[in-house]
Amino acid sequence: MRVKDNQKADQLHSAALALQALFPPARGEQTLRARYNSLSRLVPLLYVVLLANSWVLVYSFYPVAPAILTLVVPSLLTVVCLIRLCAWINRPRCDSACDMMDWEKAFQRTSRLTVLLTLGFLIWTVLLFPYGDLVAQSHIAFFLVISTLVTMSCLVHYRQAALYVAAIAGSGSILLLTMSNHAVFGAMAVNILIVVVTFTVLTQLQNRNFVELVEVRKQSRARAREQARLLDMIEDMPVAVMTVDLRDWTINYANDYSKRLLDRIEDLLPVKSETLIGTSVDVFHRNPEHQRAILSDPSKLPHNAKIKLGDEVLELNISAVMDKSGAYLGPMVTWDIVTKEVEAEERILWLAHHDTLTGLPNRAKLNDELRAALSGPEPQFCLLFVDLDGFKLINDSLGHSVGDAILQQVAERLQSVCTPNGATVGRLGGDEFAVILPVQDVGKAKVLAEELIEVLSVRYRLDDHRQVRIGASVGISVAPAHARDSKLLLSRADIALSDAKRSGKSVARVFVPSMEKEVRERVLLEADLRHALEKKEGLYVFYQPILDIKTRKVTAREALIRWNHPQRGWVAPAHFIPIAEQSGLICDLGRFVLDRACKDAVAWNDQARVAVNVSPQQLGKGTLATTVLASLAESGLPPQRLEIEITETALLNEEVQGIHDLRQLHAMEVRVALDDFGTGYSSLAHLRAFPFDKIKIDGSFVRDCATRPDCAAVVRAVADLGKRLGVTTVAEGVETETHLQLVTEEGCSEVQGHYFGVPQPMEPIEAILPEQEIRSA
Ligand code: C2E
Ligand code: CA
Ligand code: CA
Repeated sequence: MRVKDNQKADQLHSAALALQALFPPARGEQTLRARYNSLSRLVPLLYVVLLANSWVLVYSFYPVAPAILTLVVPSLLTVVCLIRLCAWINRPRCDSACDMMDWEKAFQRTSRLTVLLTLGFLIWTVLLFPYGDLVAQSHIAFFLVISTLVTMSCLVHYRQAALYVAAIAGSGSILLLTMSNHAVFGAMAVNILIVVVTFTVLTQLQNRNFVELVEVRKQSRARAREQARLLDMIEDMPVAVMTVDLRDWTINYANDYSKRLLDRIEDLLPVKSETLIGTSVDVFHRNPEHQRAILSDPSKLPHNAKIKLGDEVLELNISAVMDKSGAYLGPMVTWDIVTKEVEAEERILWLAHHDTLTGLPNRAKLNDELRAALSGPEPQFCLLFVDLDGFKLINDSLGHSVGDAILQQVAERLQSVCTPNGATVGRLGGDEFAVILPVQDVGKAKVLAEELIEVLSVRYRLDDHRQVRIGASVGISVAPAHARDSKLLLSRADIALSDAKRSGKSVARVFVPSMEKEVRERVLLEADLRHALEKKEGLYVFYQPILDIKTRKVTAREALIRWNHPQRGWVAPAHFIPIAEQSGLICDLGRFVLDRACKDAVAWNDQARVAVNVSPQQLGKGTLATTVLASLAESGLPPQRLEIEITETALLNEEVQGIHDLRQLHAMEVRVALDDFGTGYSSLAHLRAFPFDKIKIDGSFVRDCATRPDCAAVVRAVADLGKRLGVTTVAEGVETETHLQLVTEEGCSEVQGHYFGVPQPMEPIEAILPEQEIRSA
C-alpha cells in the first residue's frame, strides 16, 4: 500500500514538474507589471461582454424560466460583475510606485473571483438549461462557448485564471451538453472540447510570447538607458570626441568639447562648430585620400597623428568602434589642441641638447653626434678641442655676467668661422668648446684651429669703455686614426690640448701617441710623489743664498724643494711642482718644506732669513696663516726671520681672499715677497693691492739685461719703484760678474744666483747620494 502511495507521490511530482516546465511561473517585476496592466485593460471589457451576453440569454429564457433564474440570479451576477468592473476601472494603472505585493494580491483575487464567477455563470446556465426548448438550449451552448472563449481571450496574459476558466467552463459545458442526450449537443460538446483545448494551447503560447516580449522590451529599455547614459557621459567629457559615417565620410557625432575646441580654431578650418555634424571629415586632413584609407581599415587602427594647422598643432587618436560580433561600425576620433604641450616638449628636448647660455649643442648632443659619426662605415672627421686662455681670470675678476657675455661672443665667433667650413660647434662646459670638422685632413684641421685662435684673440668689447682680451688653445684628434670611440677621441683631443697649453698657450696641437705617454708618466709620477710625501722619503730642502748687493752679506736663503726619485734619480721641481699643484699634493708638500725650512733656519748662526715658496693653490683658502704659525711654533723660529714668496698668479685667482691671507702673515710679522716679478700680468696693480716687503725680478730679465735694452729697462724700472716704495728688490739668476755689474748699475738692492752659490743641502748628503747626482741637483 505504502509502495503504491509512494509511486503515486512520485507520479504527482513528475506531473507537477512537467506542468511547471510547460507553464513556467512568470516572474520578474517587469512581467508582473505588464500582466497587471494588460488585465486592467481587458478585464473591464470582459465584464461588459459577459453581462451583455448574459442579458441577451435572459431575453431568450425570460418567457419560459422562473423569475429567480431570469431576474434574481442574473441581477446578482450583474451586481458582482459591476462592482468588479468599477474596481478595475478605478484601479490606478500601475507604475513603478506600485508594490509587487499589490499585484500579487490582485492576481490572487482575480483567480478566486474567476473561479467563483465561472462557477456562478455555469451553474446559472445549467439551471436554466431544462427550461428552454432545443433552440433556447442551443443559445445556452452558444453562450457558454463564446463566454468561455471571450473570458480566456481577456485573461490571455494571466494564464492561471485562463486555465481555470477553460477547466471549469469547458468541462461544465461539455458535461451539460453530453448529459442532454441529444446527438447534436454531443457533437457540440466535441466542438467545445476541441476549441477549448486549442484555446488553452494558444493561451499558453501567447503567454510565453508575452513573457518574452516583456523581457525583450525590458532589455531594450535598459540598453537605451545605458546608451543615453554613455552619450551623456561622452557629451560632458573634457575630451573632444567625433564619430564618422563611413558611407559618406561625414561627421555624424561630435560632443560638446569638440565643438568648443573647434570654436578656438575656427579661423584655421573651413567649418564652424554649428555645422560640424554632416560636414565631411576631409576638412581635417591635407591629404583626404590618405585619411580615408586609414579610417576605412580597422586593421590600421588605432592610429595617432599630429597635424600642424597654422600655428596650432592638433593631436588625433583614431580608434575602431566594433559591435559585439566584431563588425566594424566606424572610426571614433578623439582629438585635442596640443600646441602648448608640443612647444613645451620641443623646448625640453632643445634644453636637453643645447647649452642655454650660448645656444650651442651641449656635451650630451656633441657626444651623440660623435657617436653617430663614428658608427658610420667610414668615419672620417677631425675633432678640435678648444679651450680659452685667461678666461678664468676675467670671470673671477670682472664677474660672472661679464664672463657669460664673453662666452656668448666666443660662441658667435666660433660659429662664424665653423659654419662656412661645414663644421659643427658645441660647448662642452665652462670655457671648453668642441668642433667637429667632417674631413680627415689634419692640415685643414690645423688651418681651422689657427683661424679659431686668431678670431678668439681679437679684443672683446664689454661696453663703451671696457675691452678685454683672451686667447685660445686647441687640441686636435682625428677619426678613425686616433680612435673609433667618442670618449677616447675626445680624451685624445684633450691630451693634445694640454700639450698645447704646456707649450705656451694660443697654439694648436695635433694628438700624437707620445703625448699619451706623457700623461701616463704624469699619473705615475703623481703616485710616486704621494708615496714619497707619505713616507717622507727622497724629499730634501736645499738652500740658495740671497745677498745684500753692497755688503755682500747673506740676508736670506731661499728654500727649494728637491726630489730624489728611487728609479728616475733627481726630478726637477719645474717637472713635479705642476703635478703636485694639479693633484692637490702641493699643500702637503708646502707644509713639508715650511716645517723643514723653519727647523733648519733656527740653526743658522748668521741670523739670515729663510724664504719659502708658496704656490697659488695654497693661497686664498684661509689656512696659510695657521700653517705658518704652527711651523713657527714647532721650530721656535722668530716670525721676522721667515719670508713667504708668492708669484703674481697666486693673486689672480682668489684676489680678495689671497690678500686677506697675506695680511694675516703681515700681522704675524712674517715678510712677504713678490716672486718672478715681470713674468705675470698687470704687475703694478698687485703692488698697489698689497704692501710687499720684497720684489724678486725674474732671472730671465737679468740674464738678457746685457743684450736686450728692454730687459735692462724693466730691471731699472722695478729697482726705481722699489726705492720709491721702500721695498727691497732682488735680482734673480745672477750667474756672472757682468750680470752682477748690470743689476748693481740698475739699482737692485739684493742678488741671488749661481754666481754666489747654487742651492745646497744643509748637511752634506754624500752618505746617501752618489756624487754626480748631487751635482746634477
Ligand atoms: P723660483 O722660486 O723662481 O726659484 C728660483 C729658481 O731659480 C730655482 O730653480 C733655482 O735653482 C734657480 N736658480 C737660482 N739661481 C740661478 C741661476 O743663476 N741660474 C739659473 N739658471 N737658475 C737659477 P729650482 O730650484 O729648479 O726651482 C724652480 C721653481 O720651482 C722655483 O722657482 C719655484 O717656483 C718652484 N719651487 C721650488 N721649490 C719650491 C717649493 O718648495 N714650493 C713651491 N711652491 N715651489 C717651489
Ligand atoms: Ca722663489
Ligand atoms: Ca723666482
